[in-house]
Amino acid sequence: MVCEVGRRCRKHLTCPDCARSWQRKEFKTFCEGTKIQPSGILTYFVIKTQRRGNLYYSIDELYKVIDDIREAVKRSRIGCSFFGRLEVSFSQTMGFNPHLNLITFGDVTPFLEILMRYNLHVYRRIKENEKNVSRSIVWYMCKFNNLGYEKGEIVRNALNQRKTIISSRHFKGLGVGDVSATDVDYSFLKPCPIRYREEVELRSDYASKRRREREALISKIEAIKKMYETA
Ligand SMILES: [Zn+2]
Repeated sequence: MVCEVGRRCRKHLTCPDCARSWQRKEFKTFCEGTKIQPSGILTYFVIKTQRRGNLYYSIDELYKVIDDIREAVKRSRIGCSFFGRLEVSFSQTMGFNPHLNLITFGDVTPFLEILMRYNLHVYRRIKENEKNVSRSIVWYMCKFNNLGYEKGEIVRNALNQRKTIISSRHFKGLGVGDVSATDVDYSFLKPCPIRYREEVELRSDYASKRRREREALISKIEAIKKMYETA
């Protein structure tokens, strides 16, 4: 099947073209919704379940959080701007890693109240409330995880057609259509580089190799010293 502008196959989890087109569309939606920079404190959350290993269980737990956030919006408990994505990555050592990325502008109290109801692992960082900072986070959170066909299908089944984007009214109904690669202003990537998982793994491999080499060097030097001391 041909996958191109106007006739996308829409398999965001397995088709790199659709995934990147989706990333651009969500990113553009975020940019449109923040044309006027939201005020308040910018907080970046990464939310996971404590218990790992069961993809279906973890995804369902994260959707409880998402449902509660939606309910809180309905009840006007949450009024600030927020934008999030439920993302599923995969690593050989850890397996599937479903997590909810979320950025909020303003009071985090209602979000924390919801998160406290569940057994979650929550990473929370305050970031500078600046256009390029929030854009680089959103660009990164909407990236394509190349899971391959089989794993992509497993994730698609587990998601069961539920939306992976959760956002406040500021990002609704903006009518952002297909966004071409040349339509994206990438200048946001410069001031706040975010390391991709592959880069982090590469750096950590390199660091541990260097550590082992250094340990080997030290033990060889020790052996030489001993040889002379006993001679
Ligand atoms: Zn496609």
